[in-house]
Amino acid sequence: MNFVELKRLYDQPLFDLITQSRAAHLEHWRGEQVQRCSLLSIKTGGCSEDCAYCAQSSHYSTGVAREELLPVDEIMHAAQRARAQGATRFCMGAAWRGVRDGTAKFEQVLATIREVSQLGMEVCVTLGEIGPNEARRLKEAGVTAYNHNIDTSPEFYPEIVSTHTFAARLTTIAAVQESGMSVCCGGIVGMGESADDRLRMLEVLSNFQPPPESVPINCLMAMPGTPLAGQPPIDIFDLVRLIALTRLALPRARVRLAAGRTRLTREGQALCFFAGANSIFYGNKLLTAANPAADADVALLRALGLEIEPNEDSEGRGTAVSGDTWRV
Ligand code: SAM
Ligand code: SF4
Repeated sequence: MNFVELKRLYDQPLFDLITQSRAAHLEHWRGEQVQRCSLLSIKTGGCSEDCAYCAQSSHYSTGVAREELLPVDEIMHAAQRARAQGATRFCMGAAWRGVRDGTAKFEQVLATIREVSQLGMEVCVTLGEIGPNEARRLKEAGVTAYNHNIDTSPEFYPEIVSTHTFAARLTTIAAVQESGMSVCCGGIVGMGESADDRLRMLEVLSNFQPPPESVPINCLMAMPGTPLAGQPPIDIFDLVRLIALTRLALPRARVRLAAGRTRLTREGQALCFFAGANSIFYGNKLLTAANPAADADVALLRALGLEIEPNEDSEGRGTAVSGDTWRV
């Protein structure tokens, strides 16, 4: 879709917009299913980049301690725990500008992926900039999807990051597409961008060939010490509109209600699910930021009559973890 088409849809009365997005959602997905993903920071802090939202940038004093790449067994332990809690996708994030083939850290990541991919969950990694060789080797090791967010519009991006360019993000995404891995790519709202910036971001995403398999919509977590620490939360109806529009622009994509759910009410999240979000990040922590407690999420999905998607652990025995049935 182009900007004009997106804007025409976006500017409708909210109920007209979500009626259309709900119809698109039900055409391609079971409307009651919500995928739960788990996200682990495998290398935290000390990043060379100056992304204004990020607590892991070494440019800001955020109190996030720099840690080395986690050992394989520690990551495996976290992945097994996530699966036991019902996650069907396990995402691993590293606070790097990028990673290169031929380095010890890349080999360690590949070894980790080979093990984690045996667990039967989708495996997603976000390691920053990569090229065709890295993409090919990650796919061979068992990665399902590579996350690389464009985060905002091409026009607003330089306001947020000065150490790399929007074009460099697209180059990495092209390498991922070429390798045959799925692309997970979305953005952040609430950084001070305009509504048009959000639509321009969506215009870029909806013109990817092939379209992204997964689109995380993050609400800014205003992290103390970052330049965006004082940003107010995004208006809930602006978020719901954006989710509905994402569902219309990318009907087959997983639309993930990602970071920032701690700032949303239960009612706000319910509207997001109705508008087309069909995945959440689950677990008490999201990289370095807080996330709603797993129990609270299960209670919310249960209250809405939504289903959590069964994982291999739950198949055949009707329970995901003790006391936690498929239909939560
Ligand atoms: N370094 C890699 C990169 O930049 O692609 C991967 C890790 S980075 C932390 C992954 C994504 O997390 C970012 O692209 C951004 O969308 C999201 N993110 C990071 N900090 C955030 C915050 N404070 N609020 C919302 N989303 C955030
Ligand atoms: Fe580094 Fe990624 Fe954070 Fe930017 S978003 S500072 S590249 S970890």
